[in-house]
Amino acid sequence: MKENISLKAYNTFGIDARAKFFFELKKREELSSLAHFNSFHDKSLILGGGSNILLCKDFDGLVILNSLKGIELIKEDENEVYLKVAAGEVWHDLVSYTIARSWGGLENLSLIPGRVGASPMQNIGAYGVELKDVFYELEAWDKETEQVVVFNKEQCQFAYRESIFKKELRGKHIILSISLVLSKKPKINIEYGAIAETLKLMKVENPTIKDVSDAVIAIRSSKLPNPKEIGNAGSFFKNPVVDLKLVKELQGKYPSLPVYTVDEKCAKLPAAWLIEQAGWKGKSFGNYGVHKNQALVLVNYGGAKGEDIKNLAHSIQADVFSKFGIEISPEVNFI
Ligand SMILES: Cc1cc2nc3c(=O)[nH]c(=O)nc-3n(C[C@H](O)[C@H](O)[C@H](O)COP(=O)(O)OP(=O)(O)OC[C@H]3O[C@@H](n4cnc5c(N)ncnc54)[C@H](O)[C@@H]3O)c2cc1C
Repeated sequence: MKENISLKAYNTFGIDARAKFFFELKKREELSSLAHFNSFHDKSLILGGGSNILLCKDFDGLVILNSLKGIELIKEDENEVYLKVAAGEVWHDLVSYTIARSWGGLENLSLIPGRVGASPMQNIGAYGVELKDVFYELEAWDKETEQVVVFNKEQCQFAYRESIFKKELRGKHIILSISLVLSKKPKINIEYGAIAETLKLMKVENPTIKDVSDAVIAIRSSKLPNPKEIGNAGSFFKNPVVDLKLVKELQGKYPSLPVYTVDEKCAKLPAAWLIEQAGWKGKSFGNYGVHKNQALVLVNYGGAKGEDIKNLAHSIQADVFSKFGIEISPEVNFI
Protein backbone atom coordinates (compact mmCIF):
# COMPACT_ATOMS: atom_id res chain seq x y z
CA MET A 1 0.00 0.00 0.00
CA LYS A 2 1.43 3.35 -1.06
CA GLU A 3 0.28 6.72 0.23
CA ASN A 4 -0.15 10.14 -1.37
CA ILE A 5 0.75 9.04 -4.89
CA SER A 6 0.54 11.19 -8.04
CA LEU A 7 -1.80 9.64 -10.61
CA LYS A 8 -0.28 11.58 -13.52
CA ALA A 9 1.27 8.45 -15.04
CA TYR A 10 -1.95 6.47 -14.50
CA ASN A 11 -4.35 8.51 -16.64
CA THR A 12 -4.01 9.31 -20.35
CA PHE A 13 -5.21 12.89 -19.79
CA GLY A 14 -2.00 13.28 -17.75
CA ILE A 15 -3.83 15.07 -14.92
CA ASP A 16 -1.64 15.43 -11.87
CA ALA A 17 -4.23 14.51 -9.21
CA ARG A 18 -3.14 12.55 -6.14
CA ALA A 19 -4.47 9.37 -4.52
CA LYS A 20 -4.54 9.13 -0.73
CA PHE A 21 -3.87 5.38 -0.96
CA PHE A 22 -2.69 3.30 -3.92
CA PHE A 23 -2.50 -0.47 -4.32
CA GLU A 24 -1.47 -2.54 -7.33
CA LEU A 25 -3.61 -5.70 -7.45
CA LYS A 26 -1.61 -8.62 -8.84
CA LYS A 27 -3.47 -11.60 -7.34
CA ARG A 28 -7.19 -12.19 -6.77
CA GLU A 29 -6.48 -13.46 -3.24
CA GLU A 30 -5.27 -9.99 -2.25
CA LEU A 31 -8.85 -8.71 -2.49
CA SER A 32 -9.99 -10.45 0.72
CA SER A 33 -7.40 -8.63 2.81
CA LEU A 34 -7.86 -5.39 0.85
CA ALA A 35 -11.56 -5.52 1.79
CA HIS A 36 -10.57 -4.98 5.45
CA PHE A 37 -9.01 -1.65 4.57
CA ASN A 38 -11.48 1.14 5.54
CA SER A 39 -11.28 3.06 2.27
CA PHE A 40 -12.11 -0.09 0.27
CA HIS A 41 -15.79 0.25 1.15
CA ASP A 42 -15.92 4.01 1.86
CA LYS A 43 -14.17 5.28 -1.23
CA SER A 44 -12.25 3.18 -3.72
CA LEU A 45 -11.60 3.36 -7.44
CA ILE A 46 -10.52 0.47 -9.64
CA LEU A 47 -8.26 1.61 -12.41
CA GLY A 48 -7.03 0.04 -15.65
CA GLY A 49 -5.11 2.13 -18.16
CA GLY A 50 -6.81 5.37 -17.06
CA SER A 51 -7.81 6.08 -20.68
CA ASN A 52 -11.48 6.74 -20.01
CA ILE A 53 -11.41 8.86 -16.86
CA LEU A 54 -11.13 12.52 -16.00
CA LEU A 55 -9.67 13.10 -12.54
CA CYS A 56 -11.50 16.25 -11.45
CA LYS A 57 -9.70 16.49 -8.11
CA ASP A 58 -7.42 14.55 -5.74
CA PHE A 59 -8.85 11.13 -4.86
CA ASP A 60 -9.38 11.01 -1.12
CA GLY A 61 -9.54 7.22 -0.94
CA LEU A 62 -8.02 4.01 -2.28
CA VAL A 63 -7.02 3.59 -5.92
CA ILE A 64 -6.60 -0.06 -6.96
CA LEU A 65 -4.59 -0.56 -10.13
CA ASN A 66 -5.77 -3.77 -11.76
CA SER A 67 -2.69 -5.76 -12.84
CA LEU A 68 -4.22 -9.27 -12.81
CA LYS A 69 -2.57 -11.19 -15.65
CA GLY A 70 -3.26 -14.33 -17.67
CA ILE A 71 -4.90 -15.59 -20.86
CA GLU A 72 -6.43 -19.07 -20.72
CA LEU A 73 -7.95 -21.21 -23.48
CA ILE A 74 -11.08 -22.64 -21.86
CA LYS A 75 -12.43 -24.74 -24.72
CA GLU A 76 -12.35 -25.04 -28.48
CA ASP A 77 -13.89 -26.90 -31.37
CA GLU A 78 -13.26 -26.78 -35.10
CA ASN A 79 -15.01 -23.40 -35.41
CA GLU A 80 -14.47 -21.48 -32.18
CA VAL A 81 -12.22 -20.82 -29.21
CA TYR A 82 -13.31 -19.65 -25.77
CA LEU A 83 -10.69 -17.46 -24.06
CA LYS A 84 -10.67 -16.29 -20.47
CA VAL A 85 -8.60 -13.15 -20.02
CA ALA A 86 -7.57 -11.53 -16.74
CA ALA A 87 -8.70 -7.93 -16.28
CA GLY A 88 -5.22 -6.44 -16.00
CA GLU A 89 -4.07 -7.56 -19.46
CA VAL A 90 -3.51 -4.68 -21.87
CA TRP A 91 -6.35 -4.67 -24.42
CA HIS A 92 -4.22 -4.31 -27.54
CA ASP A 93 -1.82 -7.04 -26.35
CA LEU A 94 -4.85 -9.35 -26.22
CA VAL A 95 -5.85 -8.31 -29.75
CA SER A 96 -2.30 -9.06 -31.01
CA TYR A 97 -2.31 -12.41 -29.16
CA THR A 98 -5.52 -13.51 -30.91
CA ILE A 99 -4.42 -12.28 -34.34
CA ALA A 100 -1.12 -14.17 -34.03
CA ARG A 101 -3.21 -17.34 -33.62
CA SER A 102 -5.63 -16.45 -36.47
CA TRP A 103 -8.59 -16.23 -34.10
CA GLY A 104 -10.97 -13.65 -35.49
CA GLY A 105 -13.25 -11.17 -33.77
CA LEU A 106 -11.06 -8.51 -32.18
CA GLU A 107 -9.21 -7.16 -35.25
CA ASN A 108 -11.51 -4.13 -35.70
CA LEU A 109 -10.92 -3.25 -32.03
CA SER A 110 -7.14 -2.94 -32.50
CA LEU A 111 -5.24 -0.22 -30.66
CA ILE A 112 -8.02 0.81 -28.26
CA PRO A 113 -6.08 1.94 -25.18
CA GLY A 114 -6.66 0.52 -21.72
CA ARG A 115 -6.91 -2.83 -20.00
CA VAL A 116 -9.25 -5.74 -20.53
CA GLY A 117 -11.23 -5.22 -17.29
CA ALA A 118 -12.63 -1.88 -18.43
CA SER A 119 -13.78 -3.16 -21.81
CA PRO A 120 -17.24 -4.29 -20.62
CA MET A 121 -17.77 -1.02 -18.72
CA GLN A 122 -18.71 0.88 -21.85
CA ASN A 123 -18.89 -2.09 -24.24
CA ILE A 124 -15.93 -0.74 -26.19
CA GLY A 125 -16.47 -0.38 -29.87
CA ALA A 126 -14.81 0.70 -33.09
CA TYR A 127 -15.17 0.23 -36.85
CA GLY A 128 -18.53 -1.53 -36.71
CA VAL A 129 -17.66 -4.01 -33.93
CA GLU A 130 -18.43 -3.90 -30.20
CA LEU A 131 -17.18 -6.04 -27.33
CA LYS A 132 -20.66 -7.58 -27.04
CA ASP A 133 -20.20 -9.22 -30.47
CA VAL A 134 -17.56 -11.59 -29.05
CA PHE A 135 -18.43 -11.50 -25.34
CA TYR A 136 -19.38 -14.67 -23.47
CA GLU A 137 -19.27 -13.88 -19.73
CA LEU A 138 -17.27 -12.13 -17.02
CA GLU A 139 -16.21 -12.72 -13.46
CA ALA A 140 -16.42 -9.88 -10.97
CA TRP A 141 -15.74 -9.36 -7.28
CA ASP A 142 -18.85 -8.08 -5.52
CA LYS A 143 -17.51 -5.46 -3.09
CA GLU A 144 -20.45 -5.87 -0.72
CA THR A 145 -20.65 -9.67 -0.44
CA GLU A 146 -16.91 -10.17 -1.08
CA GLN A 147 -17.74 -13.04 -3.45
CA VAL A 148 -16.88 -13.74 -7.07
CA VAL A 149 -19.98 -13.49 -9.25
CA VAL A 150 -20.49 -14.34 -12.94
CA PHE A 151 -22.40 -12.13 -15.40
CA ASN A 152 -23.51 -13.48 -18.78
CA LYS A 153 -23.96 -11.25 -21.81
CA GLU A 154 -27.62 -10.51 -21.14
CA GLN A 155 -26.95 -9.58 -17.51
CA CYS A 156 -24.30 -7.05 -18.58
CA GLN A 157 -27.03 -5.07 -20.45
CA PHE A 158 -24.67 -3.95 -23.16
CA ALA A 159 -25.70 -1.04 -25.37
CA TYR A 160 -23.88 1.70 -27.30
CA ARG A 161 -21.02 2.69 -24.93
CA GLU A 162 -23.11 1.39 -22.01
CA SER A 163 -23.46 -1.53 -19.63
CA ILE A 164 -25.00 -2.24 -16.26
CA PHE A 165 -21.59 -1.44 -14.69
CA LYS A 166 -21.91 2.20 -15.79
CA LYS A 167 -25.48 2.44 -14.50
CA GLU A 168 -27.11 0.73 -11.47
CA LEU A 169 -24.02 -1.35 -10.63
CA ARG A 170 -21.56 1.54 -10.97
CA GLY A 171 -18.71 1.15 -8.48
CA LYS A 172 -20.14 -2.06 -6.97
CA HIS A 173 -17.90 -4.63 -8.69
CA ILE A 174 -14.31 -5.21 -9.63
CA ILE A 175 -14.16 -7.04 -12.94
CA LEU A 176 -11.61 -9.87 -12.62
CA SER A 177 -11.76 -11.56 -16.02
CA ILE A 178 -13.74 -11.64 -19.23
CA SER A 179 -14.43 -14.61 -21.48
CA LEU A 180 -14.72 -14.25 -25.24
CA VAL A 181 -15.78 -16.50 -28.13
CA LEU A 182 -13.52 -16.06 -31.15
CA SER A 183 -13.76 -17.61 -34.57
CA LYS A 184 -11.33 -19.99 -36.22
CA LYS A 185 -13.05 -19.18 -39.53
CA PRO A 186 -13.19 -15.42 -39.24
CA LYS A 187 -15.57 -13.28 -41.28
CA ILE A 188 -13.86 -10.10 -42.38
CA ASN A 189 -15.76 -6.89 -41.56
CA ILE A 190 -14.45 -3.94 -43.57
CA GLU A 191 -17.70 -2.10 -44.22
CA TYR A 192 -17.11 0.63 -41.72
CA GLY A 193 -15.07 3.84 -41.97
CA ALA A 194 -11.97 3.90 -44.12
CA ILE A 195 -10.89 0.24 -43.68
CA ALA A 196 -11.66 -0.88 -47.26
CA GLU A 197 -10.02 2.26 -48.68
CA THR A 198 -6.92 1.80 -46.53
CA LEU A 199 -6.61 -1.87 -47.56
CA LYS A 200 -6.73 -0.75 -51.19
CA LEU A 201 -3.90 1.72 -50.52
CA MET A 202 -2.02 -1.14 -48.85
CA LYS A 203 -2.63 -3.14 -52.06
CA VAL A 204 -4.36 -5.95 -50.15
CA GLU A 205 -6.97 -7.82 -52.17
CA ASN A 206 -8.05 -10.71 -49.92
CA PRO A 207 -7.56 -9.33 -46.44
CA THR A 208 -6.76 -11.52 -43.44
CA ILE A 209 -7.61 -10.43 -39.89
CA LYS A 210 -3.97 -9.28 -39.58
CA ASP A 211 -4.45 -7.02 -42.63
CA VAL A 212 -7.65 -5.59 -41.13
CA SER A 213 -5.85 -4.96 -37.84
CA ASP A 214 -2.96 -3.25 -39.68
CA ALA A 215 -5.43 -1.04 -41.56
CA VAL A 216 -7.27 -0.10 -38.33
CA ILE A 217 -3.94 0.69 -36.65
CA ALA A 218 -2.89 2.89 -39.60
CA ILE A 219 -6.20 4.78 -39.60
CA ARG A 220 -6.25 5.28 -35.82
CA SER A 221 -2.62 6.40 -35.70
CA SER A 222 -3.24 9.04 -38.36
CA LYS A 223 -6.55 10.28 -36.91
CA LEU A 224 -6.29 10.26 -33.14
CA PRO A 225 -3.85 12.21 -30.97
CA ASN A 226 -1.42 9.92 -29.15
CA PRO A 227 -1.94 10.34 -25.37
CA LYS A 228 1.84 9.97 -24.95
CA GLU A 229 2.18 13.25 -26.86
CA ILE A 230 -1.01 15.16 -25.92
CA GLY A 231 -3.09 14.21 -22.89
CA ASN A 232 -6.57 13.03 -23.92
CA ALA A 233 -9.13 10.28 -23.35
CA GLY A 234 -10.24 9.69 -26.94
CA SER A 235 -13.82 10.65 -27.77
CA PHE A 236 -15.05 12.71 -24.86
CA PHE A 237 -18.76 12.59 -25.80
CA LYS A 238 -21.10 9.88 -27.06
CA ASN A 239 -22.96 10.33 -30.34
CA PRO A 240 -26.52 11.35 -29.39
CA VAL A 241 -29.52 9.29 -30.45
CA VAL A 242 -32.21 11.77 -31.47
CA ASP A 243 -35.92 11.69 -32.33
CA LEU A 244 -36.47 11.69 -36.13
CA LYS A 245 -38.82 14.72 -35.87
CA LEU A 246 -35.96 16.86 -34.55
CA VAL A 247 -33.55 15.31 -37.09
CA LYS A 248 -35.88 16.39 -39.96
CA GLU A 249 -36.08 19.96 -38.56
CA LEU A 250 -32.29 20.11 -38.29
CA GLN A 251 -31.81 18.71 -41.81
CA GLY A 252 -33.95 21.59 -43.09
CA LYS A 253 -31.56 24.08 -41.48
CA TYR A 254 -28.33 22.12 -42.00
CA PRO A 255 -28.51 20.03 -45.19
CA SER A 256 -24.97 18.68 -44.63
CA LEU A 257 -25.90 17.11 -41.25
CA PRO A 258 -24.74 13.44 -41.29
CA VAL A 259 -27.50 11.10 -40.06
CA TYR A 260 -27.25 7.39 -39.17
CA THR A 261 -30.68 5.79 -38.90
CA VAL A 262 -31.17 3.62 -35.79
CA ASP A 263 -34.83 2.62 -36.24
CA GLU A 264 -38.12 4.12 -37.47
CA LYS A 265 -38.17 6.60 -34.56
CA CYS A 266 -34.52 7.59 -33.95
CA ALA A 267 -31.24 8.42 -35.61
CA LYS A 268 -27.70 8.80 -34.35
CA LEU A 269 -25.94 12.10 -35.04
CA PRO A 270 -22.17 12.61 -34.86
CA ALA A 271 -21.37 14.65 -31.73
CA ALA A 272 -18.16 15.78 -33.49
CA TRP A 273 -20.20 17.46 -36.23
CA LEU A 274 -22.41 19.29 -33.69
CA ILE A 275 -19.38 20.47 -31.68
CA GLU A 276 -17.57 21.62 -34.81
CA GLN A 277 -20.62 23.49 -36.12
CA ALA A 278 -20.93 25.19 -32.72
CA GLY A 279 -17.42 26.56 -33.28
CA TRP A 280 -15.45 24.62 -30.65
CA LYS A 281 -13.04 22.62 -32.84
CA GLY A 282 -9.44 23.73 -32.25
CA LYS A 283 -10.36 26.20 -29.48
CA SER A 284 -7.56 26.51 -26.96
CA PHE A 285 -7.68 27.90 -23.43
CA GLY A 286 -4.03 28.00 -22.48
CA ASN A 287 -3.04 24.51 -21.39
CA TYR A 288 -6.24 22.75 -22.44
CA GLY A 289 -8.79 22.84 -25.24
CA VAL A 290 -10.51 21.00 -28.11
CA HIS A 291 -8.20 19.15 -30.51
CA LYS A 292 -7.57 20.96 -33.81
CA ASN A 293 -8.46 17.96 -36.01
CA GLN A 294 -10.91 16.07 -33.77
CA ALA A 295 -13.78 18.09 -32.29
CA LEU A 296 -14.72 15.11 -30.08
CA VAL A 297 -11.35 15.01 -28.32
CA LEU A 298 -10.64 17.36 -25.41
CA VAL A 299 -6.94 17.77 -24.68
CA ASN A 300 -4.52 18.66 -21.92
CA TYR A 301 -1.51 20.38 -23.48
CA GLY A 302 0.31 20.00 -20.14
CA GLY A 303 -0.46 21.05 -16.60
CA ALA A 304 -4.24 21.45 -16.97
CA LYS A 305 -6.51 20.70 -14.03
CA GLY A 306 -9.27 18.11 -14.39
CA GLU A 307 -11.75 20.74 -13.19
CA ASP A 308 -10.84 23.00 -16.17
CA ILE A 309 -11.54 20.21 -18.65
CA LYS A 310 -14.77 19.34 -16.83
CA ASN A 311 -15.92 22.98 -17.09
CA LEU A 312 -14.98 23.06 -20.77
CA ALA A 313 -17.05 19.89 -21.33
CA HIS A 314 -20.03 21.51 -19.58
CA SER A 315 -19.72 24.68 -21.68
CA ILE A 316 -19.67 22.60 -24.89
CA GLN A 317 -22.71 20.59 -23.75
CA ALA A 318 -24.66 23.78 -22.91
CA ASP A 319 -23.72 25.43 -26.20
CA VAL A 320 -24.65 22.40 -28.32
CA PHE A 321 -27.98 22.24 -26.48
CA SER A 322 -28.73 25.92 -27.01
CA LYS A 323 -27.84 25.75 -30.73
CA PHE A 324 -29.40 22.39 -31.69
CA GLY A 325 -31.68 21.39 -28.79
CA ILE A 326 -29.63 18.19 -28.40
CA GLU A 327 -28.08 16.87 -25.21
CA ILE A 328 -24.66 15.30 -25.67
CA SER A 329 -23.42 13.21 -22.76
CA PRO A 330 -19.84 12.36 -21.83
CA GLU A 331 -18.37 8.95 -22.60
CA VAL A 332 -15.53 9.66 -20.15
CA ASN A 333 -16.03 8.88 -16.45
CA PHE A 334 -15.69 11.93 -14.16
CA ILE A 335 -13.85 10.94 -10.97
C1 LIG B 1 -6.72 7.77 -27.88
C2 LIG B 1 -7.92 7.02 -27.34
C3 LIG B 1 -8.75 6.34 -28.21
C4 LIG B 1 -9.85 5.61 -27.73
N1 LIG B 1 -10.63 4.94 -28.61
C5 LIG B 1 -11.70 4.23 -28.18
C6 LIG B 1 -12.53 3.51 -29.10
O1 LIG B 1 -12.28 3.46 -30.29
N2 LIG B 1 -13.59 2.83 -28.60
C7 LIG B 1 -13.89 2.82 -27.26
O2 LIG B 1 -14.88 2.19 -26.88
N3 LIG B 1 -13.13 3.50 -26.38
C8 LIG B 1 -12.05 4.20 -26.79
N4 LIG B 1 -11.27 4.89 -25.90
C9 LIG B 1 -11.66 4.90 -24.48
C10 LIG B 1 -10.91 3.83 -23.63
O3 LIG B 1 -9.73 3.43 -24.23
C11 LIG B 1 -11.77 2.61 -23.36
O4 LIG B 1 -12.96 2.99 -22.74
C12 LIG B 1 -11.05 1.59 -22.48
O5 LIG B 1 -11.80 0.41 -22.35
C13 LIG B 1 -10.75 2.12 -21.09
O6 LIG B 1 -9.88 1.20 -20.46
P1 LIG B 1 -8.99 1.61 -19.22
O7 LIG B 1 -8.38 0.37 -18.70
O8 LIG B 1 -8.07 2.71 -19.60
O9 LIG B 1 -10.11 2.15 -18.23
P2 LIG B 1 -9.96 3.22 -17.07
O10 LIG B 1 -9.91 4.59 -17.68
O11 LIG B 1 -8.87 2.84 -16.16
O12 LIG B 1 -11.34 3.03 -16.35
C14 LIG B 1 -12.55 3.43 -16.97
C15 LIG B 1 -13.71 3.14 -16.03
O13 LIG B 1 -13.82 1.74 -15.86
C16 LIG B 1 -13.68 1.39 -14.48
N5 LIG B 1 -12.90 0.16 -14.44
C17 LIG B 1 -11.67 -0.03 -14.93
N6 LIG B 1 -11.26 -1.30 -14.72
C18 LIG B 1 -12.27 -1.91 -14.06
C19 LIG B 1 -12.45 -3.23 -13.53
N7 LIG B 1 -11.53 -4.18 -13.64
N8 LIG B 1 -13.63 -3.49 -12.88
C20 LIG B 1 -14.59 -2.54 -12.76
N9 LIG B 1 -14.46 -1.29 -13.24
C21 LIG B 1 -13.33 -0.98 -13.89
C22 LIG B 1 -12.96 2.57 -13.83
O14 LIG B 1 -13.23 2.63 -12.45
C23 LIG B 1 -13.51 3.73 -14.63
O15 LIG B 1 -14.76 4.13 -14.14
C24 LIG B 1 -10.15 5.61 -26.35
C25 LIG B 1 -9.29 6.31 -25.46
C26 LIG B 1 -8.19 7.00 -25.95
C27 LIG B 1 -7.28 7.71 -24.99
